[in-house]
Amino acid sequence: MDHNATTPVDPRVFEAMRPYFTETFGNAASRGHSFGWAAEAAVDRAREQVAHLINARPDAIVWTSGATESNNLAIKGIAGAHASRGRHIITQVTEHKAVLDPCKRLGKNGYEITWLKVDARGQVNLDQLRDALRDDTILVSIMWANNEIGTIPPVREIGAMCQARGILFHTDATQAIGKVPIDVMADHVDLLSLSGHKFYGPKGCGCLYVRNKPEKIFLTPELDGGGHEHGYRSGTLNVPGIVGVGEAAALASQDLSTEIPRLQALRDRLQTGIVEQLADVKINGDEASRLPHMTNLSFAGVEHDHLIAALYDIAVSTGSACTSASLEPSYVLRAIGLPDALAFPSLRFALGKSNTVEQVDYVVKRVVTTVRELRKLG
Ligand code: PMP
Repeated sequence: MDHNATTPVDPRVFEAMRPYFTETFGNAASRGHSFGWAAEAAVDRAREQVAHLINARPDAIVWTSGATESNNLAIKGIAGAHASRGRHIITQVTEHKAVLDPCKRLGKNGYEITWLKVDARGQVNLDQLRDALRDDTILVSIMWANNEIGTIPPVREIGAMCQARGILFHTDATQAIGKVPIDVMADHVDLLSLSGHKFYGPKGCGCLYVRNKPEKIFLTPELDGGGHEHGYRSGTLNVPGIVGVGEAAALASQDLSTEIPRLQALRDRLQTGIVEQLADVKINGDEASRLPHMTNLSFAGVEHDHLIAALYDIAVSTGSACTSASLEPSYVLRAIGLPDALAFPSLRFALGKSNTVEQVDYVVKRVVTTVRELRKLG
């Protein structure tokens, strides 16, 4: 029930990756022999598979070590390459740390960051965004889907708004990829981050989409070296990982239309089962525009620690895995206006490919009885 933290590698993805560790082990940058050519062909195929999933040009895919790196490359890379045009960046307070922290660092280094607030559903206000756009704004970074509450903003409208002002638009699509349809052309996205391990691909491999038509977008690289990936990201390519991300993207393209309704029905069964049997449960996020496979619930009147301890046999999380060691309540739940009494006792349920109706029913039963017992104990 914690598929937003990570997912298992699909066995078909693993099988596709396997030969690239041992047999087809060439360096994709070796131009003089067949070992290199085979590796390069595999990387190019994966580029096409990922590009197909988001309706991008294959040569606009830049391989990275995952979404943290992609976000850093997008934000610091645009900041570095476009500083002569302006030093103003807009983002929102509910972004993942992998967007917040690069922005904070830039804020200490001579850039001005506008931190947009969100409403009670976790939605950014488009009028506030429009008002924040300035002539020296070089980048807007708004995530495609929130990792804790699942809220999906009106990406296409945001993209169109940025395009009309000639401002670049980056979106962290780590939680949306393979979960909802994405079309970077129709949605006016200039830069998009994704990570293999969130959609049944391997950990430590992902990419940044960098639009390259009608004109190339310049980025200052984070890693200098051999000039791989159009000079955006040097370093020998992780061929098995890239093959895995490509295969995961191909499976997602194939399965998306059937997985969305299946997972949504399971999620609804889970959520309804809990809220119908328990009073004082708050559904966090935007029910009208939310990731279909997840729900985030707050249970009034129970202690967070007791809840987590009692549900030891269920893999759920409070907040994101990256901040789960923190003693603070989730900054996302605080940003949507939850008092600590509701922000602390919250659980994120994120369903995935292998989850079944039986598992969902088990979880509903365990959560309902546990919360009742904890409330009785006071
Ligand atoms: N952005 C979001 C929205 C995420 O959920 C995550 C993973 N927790 C990341 C970025 C970081 O991704 P990675 O693990 O690939 O660095």
